[in-house]
Amino acid sequence: MAEAEAKQRKTLEERAQMSDLERLRHSTAHVLATAIAKLWPDAQFAYGPPTEQGFYYDVDLEHRITPEDFPAIEAEMKKVVKENQSFERLVVSRDEALTMAKSGRLAALGERETPSTFKIDLLEEIPEDEEISIYKNGDFWDLCAGPHVPRTGNCKAFKVMSVASAFYKGDANNPQLQRVYGTAFKNKTELEEHLDRLEQAKERDHRKLGKELDLFHIDEAVGQGLILWMPNGAVVRQELQTFISEELAKQGYSQVFTPHIGKLDLYRTSGHFPYYQDSQYPPLVEREQLRLLADEGCSCGELSNRLSSGDIDGFLLKPMNCPHHIKIFASRPRSYRDLPVRLAEFGTVYRWEQSGELNGMTRVRGFTQDDAHLFCTEDQVADEIMGCLSLVKTIFNTLGMEDYRVRVGLRDPDSDKFAGDPEKWDKAGAALRDAAEKLGAPFTEEPGEAAFYGPKIDFVVKDVIGREWQLGTVQVDYVLPERFDLSYIGPDNKPHRPVMIHRAPFGSMERFVGVLIEHFAGKFPTWLAPEQVRILPISEKFLDFATEVETELKSAGVRVTTDASSDKIGAKIRLAQIDKIPYMLVIGAREAESKEVSIRHRDRGDAGSCGVVAFRERLVEEIRSRSL
Ligand SMILES: [Zn+2]
Ligand SMILES: [Zn+2]
Repeated sequence: MAEAEAKQRKTLEERAQMSDLERLRHSTAHVLATAIAKLWPDAQFAYGPPTEQGFYYDVDLEHRITPEDFPAIEAEMKKVVKENQSFERLVVSRDEALTMAKSGRLAALGERETPSTFKIDLLEEIPEDEEISIYKNGDFWDLCAGPHVPRTGNCKAFKVMSVASAFYKGDANNPQLQRVYGTAFKNKTELEEHLDRLEQAKERDHRKLGKELDLFHIDEAVGQGLILWMPNGAVVRQELQTFISEELAKQGYSQVFTPHIGKLDLYRTSGHFPYYQDSQYPPLVEREQLRLLADEGCSCGELSNRLSSGDIDGFLLKPMNCPHHIKIFASRPRSYRDLPVRLAEFGTVYRWEQSGELNGMTRVRGFTQDDAHLFCTEDQVADEIMGCLSLVKTIFNTLGMEDYRVRVGLRDPDSDKFAGDPEKWDKAGAALRDAAEKLGAPFTEEPGEAAFYGPKIDFVVKDVIGREWQLGTVQVDYVLPERFDLSYIGPDNKPHRPVMIHRAPFGSMERFVGVLIEHFAGKFPTWLAPEQVRILPISEKFLDFATEVETELKSAGVRVTTDASSDKIGAKIRLAQIDKIPYMLVIGAREAESKEVSIRHRDRGDAGSCGVVAFRERLVEEIRSRSL
């Protein structure tokens, strides 16, 4: 909502820069208001800005608008469009505007007994030197800075989408309004495409599929935002981790394991505590320590202050894996010959997200990063970044996510709000830019978007239905090596400071699997599918042969089950389709006789028949090559 708030406050100048689509959508919001005013003349209106997906208008109205009202509202809107009223701009003085608002004339079809309360309030917010304009379409007058399309007839393709409640100006102390959402497009085709995408997104929703396919579960008793991986989901995650581990080994990474907590002092050194404590679980304090503090009569506030100041120590559920990996690097003297040191871990971290922000697997409070930290010399930075990017490319290609772009976050050249030597920054920035270029994916450079400790790269993946997902990052860091006083012995026999690179291409296993569920619409490629093959005997007479086939496939490591129920074959196939199993093997008299299996693929349907060994070999190759 914060974004919408910001939009509402846009100045006249910014409003004038509305894109054509935003202008159309905002104009359609006026048409919506006109229709609502016609149906419910007592309606009071507040804000009606365009949004990412369309527009809304906030309404104060006795009648509770429900989806049952949408057809009537749309019918009124169509009349307004058909009349092809012009949007007429009228510049008025502050007094004139106030008089209109007091007579209830604003955001209304005529004068009313009650004043246009919100418009009076909004008038006060308009700066002294700004022009005040009234926009009229037909009899509907509204206080608005514009801009609009020329005529209501331009609003050809629209739909009322939903209604929700929202506080005036997003403040809970203000009246609660009804926010009516709509969308509008240039033409009917684009509108239909948008509605179709929304429908598909609903079908692909990982929260819905996660339940249907038994992939993950969130239980109130465990806690919000904490993912329980069900056996099916665990298979997907394990296969992904195995895949990544193999790639990491090829690139010379070492895997490590570290605990889920660390001393507060560790995070004081790294800077994660107390500065980011709002996004962390509160610290853990030892029982004995707490008892002593209670005896001293230490209050909660005092405890919190003393934890922050470092007067008391405790432990923190780790918000990041970096400090632990740094301590592994620093555990013994390092020579330049040891570098780069590449430490990888599927490391679980905990962050305190607001409960309103939590969303299935994509916004959680505990998650496992596909994390790694690289410690290298200044001269190795460029190659190491290139290595990180080529790893990401391999992973994305394997998963069929070929449509991605890269954002290169560089330092703001006019700012000094970054740590370390500007020359090194620019060198690392250039290395990131080079690597992005070589990657071949579209990329944008975003000066001022670097973290304060170094330049970075973000990956944004587009899924099949055109939605973008921000995944992981590669980040150069000059600050932590400094804070932890890391060093290696150079060829000159003197200590030097290593550069650190953080990288987590997926971001987290939770988020990534959530995105993958939506990307594949639950139809995982065979190598990732929790159940790869289901054997469907036509009747129990063929169970013996079914068991033979199952044993043969299991011995090759295939995840296979047999549907031994007494259901009809049609029902068995339907169920396997619902479970999105890649391969179904139908076994009847002919198959039992010839010792063959009839293959059915979930997408391609009937795929002929072949001997069990031939099928096994083909399948094993498909899994081994991780083909899509
Ligand atoms: Zn307007
Ligand atoms: Zn890190």
